Amino acid sequence: MKNYQFWFCVGSQDLYGEECLTRVAEHAKVMVEEINASGNLPFPLVLKPVLISAGHIQKTFAEASADDLCAGVITWMHTFSPAKSWIAGLKINTKPLLHLHTQFNEEIPYDTIDMDFMNENQSAHGGREYGHILTRMGLFRKVVAGHWRDPQVISRVASWMRTAVGVVESSKLRVLRIADNMRNVAVTEGDKVEAQVKFGWEVDAWPVNDIVDYVNDVKKADVDALVSEYYQEYEVILDGRGEEDFRRHVAVQAQIELGFERFLKEKNYHAIVTHFDDLGGLQQLPGLAIQRLMQKGYGFGAEGDWKTAAMVRLMKLMTQGVKDAKGTSMLEDYTYNLVPGKEGILQAHMLEICPSLASGKPAIRCLPLSMGSREDPARLVFTSKTGPGVAVSLIDLGTRFRLIIAEVECKKVEKPMPNLPVATAFWTPQPDFTTGVEAWILAGGAHHTAFSYDLSVEQMADWAEQMGIEALIIDRNTNLRQVKQDLMLGQAFYR
Ligand code: MN
Repeated sequence: MKNYQFWFCVGSQDLYGEECLTRVAEHAKVMVEEINASGNLPFPLVLKPVLISAGHIQKTFAEASADDLCAGVITWMHTFSPAKSWIAGLKINTKPLLHLHTQFNEEIPYDTIDMDFMNENQSAHGGREYGHILTRMGLFRKVVAGHWRDPQVISRVASWMRTAVGVVESSKLRVLRIADNMRNVAVTEGDKVEAQVKFGWEVDAWPVNDIVDYVNDVKKADVDALVSEYYQEYEVILDGRGEEDFRRHVAVQAQIELGFERFLKEKNYHAIVTHFDDLGGLQQLPGLAIQRLMQKGYGFGAEGDWKTAAMVRLMKLMTQGVKDAKGTSMLEDYTYNLVPGKEGILQAHMLEICPSLASGKPAIRCLPLSMGSREDPARLVFTSKTGPGVAVSLIDLGTRFRLIIAEVECKKVEKPMPNLPVATAFWTPQPDFTTGVEAWILAGGAHHTAFSYDLSVEQMADWAEQMGIEALIIDRNTNLRQVKQDLMLGQAFYR
């Protein structure tokens, strides 16, 4: 990922004289230096000269748009800044925009305040003028209000920065399909042309055997080295299989990992889909191999699900560098626990869950797969961490996309599941099992999700809004009547 920066642009006007403008610039400098030094933002702020004239504002947005390292523009109205001067610039802006509605001083200086002070520090006034023009122009921006030293405010700016990276990276995302969608499955399908128009995703199909050639080209020594690495890093559970035979099965996955990775790198793809029913010359369904690639940051979708693959990739980028990150993966709603008071959804897949979710050391197991026609695939088995997370499903409704965003609480399953040879997570959706599940079903959410412990509903909702697509949120504030109204409104608004 690039070393992204965020531009900090302060709006003002020349009505209050040079002295005032000098102080505006000084204040902005203090703020940017202090916020950068705090280490609480994932990306640095870059201070730009104070913006006064329409020409200068337009030039600044043009430069921001052309700058590959600029992932977003943060604007602050220190004084009043007549908003007609912003129209031309905002019109050409292509970067995510945040309106930081703050002011330099935290407290009104009761003893000394005079008209000069008030004219110089009138964000309350200028921010409204600026907000008005953005609303009138129908432009999406994030608004964060509060004092700039408040850790809560900085934390919200930091979260938005990650959303902004998800937005700018979206336009560069390339998904490799080495198989079509599973026959007759509806929810993993979608309009790839529209996805490129809306999100910028390039979704390409390649014959599976083109990538199999790369797998076959991997040197034995490289495979052996990677197998040794696996044995170092993971537990090994033989399940009664001979050690040599087990190792040979694991080696098949190591070879797939290396071959796939070289193909992805050479052809510049960031996400991949497979399909258990279309494996060409592959000896096993890629399991362990895909799990490892996901951990390295690649997106993945099973059964040809390119929308989930793209979302997993974006969410991995959005969470890159998060302190004490807990993980991001594709998951699938598989089976329920419906015991009153213990309701939840067991999340799993045939094989391919990212080990970044693992609580403890994953184990390699090699057991038969009930689907497909290849030899027993090696895979990593583990249970996932506990705590809150966000699960999203991007669906194509024929005329538009909808992102369903659900807040979930991951829990430990009551008992071990020794006969289940796949990685699992277990969660209860917010606000409660019944409401969360019914809302998801009504919204048309898929069985595949892109899931992260390290992102919030707000971040994903902002991403959807910036992308211009409908979002349906299921969180602790959700009730079904509201969900139904949201769905109707979405139908009217996003037609
Ligand atoms: Mn599936």
